[in-house]
Amino acid sequence: MISPYKNTFRVSQAYRHLRSDGTYHQGYDLVGIGDKYIYSPVYGTVIRAGWECAMLPRKGFGQRVVLRVGCTDYYMYFGHLSQINVVAGQKLKPGYLIGVEGSTGHSTGSHLHWEIRINDIKTGYVSVYQYAGIPNMPGSTAYTSNWAAEIFGPGNLKKPTSGYPQRLYNAALQGALGINKDGIFGARTEKAVKEFQAAHNLTADGIVGTQTKAALSKLL
Ligand SMILES: [Zn+2]
Repeated sequence: MISPYKNTFRVSQAYRHLRSDGTYHQGYDLVGIGDKYIYSPVYGTVIRAGWECAMLPRKGFGQRVVLRVGCTDYYMYFGHLSQINVVAGQKLKPGYLIGVEGSTGHSTGSHLHWEIRINDIKTGYVSVYQYAGIPNMPGSTAYTSNWAAEIFGPGNLKKPTSGYPQRLYNAALQGALGINKDGIFGARTEKAVKEFQAAHNLTADGIVGTQTKAALSKLL
């Protein structure tokens, strides 16, 4: 799970905010500061992508993407987008570009409405802020996401490593390098890391530290 923004963002409306009409805000509103691009925070499958109601562009979430999280019962909603870069049926990995934040649908300013429904129905919701690890506090505070650390884990990746959660980080590394993902950092992965480092003017030592992670995360 990573942030939907690669750059800084702020919270513009809290999850479970009580609206003036007596209903609760079941999502979490975020505003991109660094840029407005929205990326998939998870592995998932696009269930719906497009207008909630094409004849009524001010209705509901406007242009939205609904993503099933892995093989779970969680359905992640991305509402009010100005642009959509995915289609229904597409399988996404963390970091894949979903679209661009906007103000389509029932909205008064550019923001992302981010919501998780259980079983894709309007009765069960997940505390999306807890899921994301961002405080449920609207305001001007700029949150930032350390993408490289979230995707490739803390510390250095190097040969030989295996075991959980290292396998997940190794698999993310292998995915970024474009090699077969078995989650084991062996000779094959080390060779690919050295080649990547040499091609990016980094010390080709086969150890994935801060600089190599930063260079790799730009590819995602
Ligand atoms: Zn909202």
